[in-house]
Amino acid sequence: MFKAVLDIVFPPVCLLCGARALKKGFCEGCASLIEKERITSPICTVCGIPFTSSRGVDHACGRCVEQPPSFTAARSAFIFEGRVLDAIHKLKYGGDTSVAAPLADLVSGSIGGHSPCMVVPVPLHTGRLRERGFNQSLLVARELSRILSLPLIYDRLKRTRDTGQQVGLKAVERKKNVSGAFTLVEPGLFKGKKVLLVDDVITTGATLNECSKVLKRSGAEVIALTVARAVKL
Ligand SMILES: [Zn+2]
Ligand SMILES: [Zn+2]
Repeated sequence: MFKAVLDIVFPPVCLLCGARALKKGFCEGCASLIEKERITSPICTVCGIPFTSSRGVDHACGRCVEQPPSFTAARSAFIFEGRVLDAIHKLKYGGDTSVAAPLADLVSGSIGGHSPCMVVPVPLHTGRLRERGFNQSLLVARELSRILSLPLIYDRLKRTRDTGQQVGLKAVERKKNVSGAFTLVEPGLFKGKKVLLVDDVITTGATLNECSKVLKRSGAEVIALTVARAVKL
């Protein structure tokens, strides 16, 4: 009732363009532009990369066959372009944390047939966290834990050193940059657990793979989920 009154006094506006919004944070126009970026089959069954040809079925890509990653599967809902890029930038650099919940809502269906039992966000280093004031991955993870009714474990996986910006680094450099940067506070907590590891964007997968390596070492299986996948470094 109170919310209904509020909606009349302050009609919900789109978080991206200010037009009158639908219930979930974006207007019809922005919502359809976001959907235009949605990743669809065929994709790699392991890393989730979409194949260029729209024909054929999902299968493991060459890279995953040659060098299997530490996660069982990685999935992204969208390509990191257009309105999706706008939304993530607004959250990450614009500090508009209200974008996290509607984004999580659009992403939750992308874990496919996997059934994780806990949600873990990719952590920021404390220095970076202080600078930004929030961890965008935690905000998305918190919303996902609510939607999927799974516990949120946000303080047991730690980033032990500031790895700086990965933007502009080549794949090999990214891998080296995050190597050994994560640790578990309570490894026993993850033994035999299927973890949903959440980040905002996957680029080469180096960060997600490094976190997965640490989780796997303690006996966990990792399904990685990101809002978007960058198509260029
Ligand atoms: Zn809009
Ligand atoms: Zn792959």
